[in-house]
Amino acid sequence: MIEYFIPIQKNLTFITSIKMIAKTKINMKKLITLSLIIFTTVVISQNTYIHCGKLIDTQNGRVLTEKTIVVSGNTITALQDGYTNPTNATDKVIDLKTQTVMPGWIDMHVHIEGDPGPTKYLEAFTLNEADVAYNAQDIAHRTLMAGFTTVRDLGGSGVNVSLRNAINKGTVTGPRIFTVEKSLATTGGHADPTNGRKSELMGDPGPKEGVVNSIEDARKAVRQRYKNGADWIKITATGGVLSMAKSGSNPQFYEEEIAAIVEVAKDYGMKVAAHAHGDEGMQRAIKAGVKTIEHGTEMSAETMELMKKHNAFYVPTISAGKFVAEKAKLENYFPAIIVPKALAIGPQIQDTFGKAYKAGVSIAFGTDAGVFPHGENAKEFIYMTEAGMPVMKAIQSATVTNADLLDMKGKLGVLEAGYIADIIATNEDPTQNINTVENVVFVMKDGVVYKD
Ligand SMILES: [Zn+2]
Repeated sequence: MIEYFIPIQKNLTFITSIKMIAKTKINMKKLITLSLIIFTTVVISQNTYIHCGKLIDTQNGRVLTEKTIVVSGNTITALQDGYTNPTNATDKVIDLKTQTVMPGWIDMHVHIEGDPGPTKYLEAFTLNEADVAYNAQDIAHRTLMAGFTTVRDLGGSGVNVSLRNAINKGTVTGPRIFTVEKSLATTGGHADPTNGRKSELMGDPGPKEGVVNSIEDARKAVRQRYKNGADWIKITATGGVLSMAKSGSNPQFYEEEIAAIVEVAKDYGMKVAAHAHGDEGMQRAIKAGVKTIEHGTEMSAETMELMKKHNAFYVPTISAGKFVAEKAKLENYFPAIIVPKALAIGPQIQDTFGKAYKAGVSIAFGTDAGVFPHGENAKEFIYMTEAGMPVMKAIQSATVTNADLLDMKGKLGVLEAGYIADIIATNEDPTQNINTVENVVFVMKDGVVYKD
């Protein structure tokens, strides 16, 4: 159910006021000025008081009890002790006294343009851009309803940029999106869009299409992404599971090519994410200065130390690993070339994550939704805790850590005065019962209630 911030009742008050003014027979100019004053007053004075039975303090890793969050517009204006009530009759109260309230979650690795399925590889030939866009609209809605109020989209066709803009404009319901637009690969690499095609359909994609083979190409490709509207840059530093290619883990960039990408990205205010399963490609990416390592499947103890030294973050995507390993056992779900890669790489990720966490590598919550169905992103919390990360740490990773990485420190990831009102709730306290994360019962984004 969707509820809008300015209730109908307020609009009625507004209309009544206009009618009353009209009766006094003042001139049109005065009427408009007065209407604007009344309208502004009505909108600004609308506060929402959220009574929270429990509230997760993500900054300090504590569960607080009996708090009231006051929201005005899209901002949290106060966090108060106990259940306080509004003094203004136009204000609204939301009762979450039996729920656990926390900041909206941030997923650092999704592909917002599509869901998985056995026909996935045909879709490049059967779907028009508009088809992709309508599917993406549904995916965005599902993602928000699952409690993810912000996502970093790590690669698609460009619909991701349009979707981000439409959500920001308010014409489409969905999470706040930061996107890389199209991932960068080398020829035949994991994100080369023409892998596995017959020669006449293969062509020779270049930096404009996100395929680079030199430092010069690398620079052009980053600048092209900037021009196309990207917020981040993504590279595929090693082979990957779902591309039509033999190796899932070989290094696919030279370190100097990655360094050129990182350097140019920095000029445009962008950071770089690197998809990497194999250890060698991972090391090159970290040394060249990428900010996040995605999947990290074969990360060695030495690479974990390198991650810490270079202040790089690990985005585990355990959910995707588990999903592809399971589906690879079904006949004809994946093309034959994918199956051995999915069976070998998929099951390793959770174990690597556990080791990396214990080694003190910084963890940024991310799932790779799109490889598995969107809306099931919260399962990652369960997998993380299974591998030894305390629930509170996993929640902090999906809130404060990810907000910082997205340069949204002070704006997202915390429920305190001054932060953007991205607020969600579960029926139970996840630190007591982690499974409750799969059932988000309340979602507010930017001060607007989308699920109640
Ligand atoms: Zn991915």
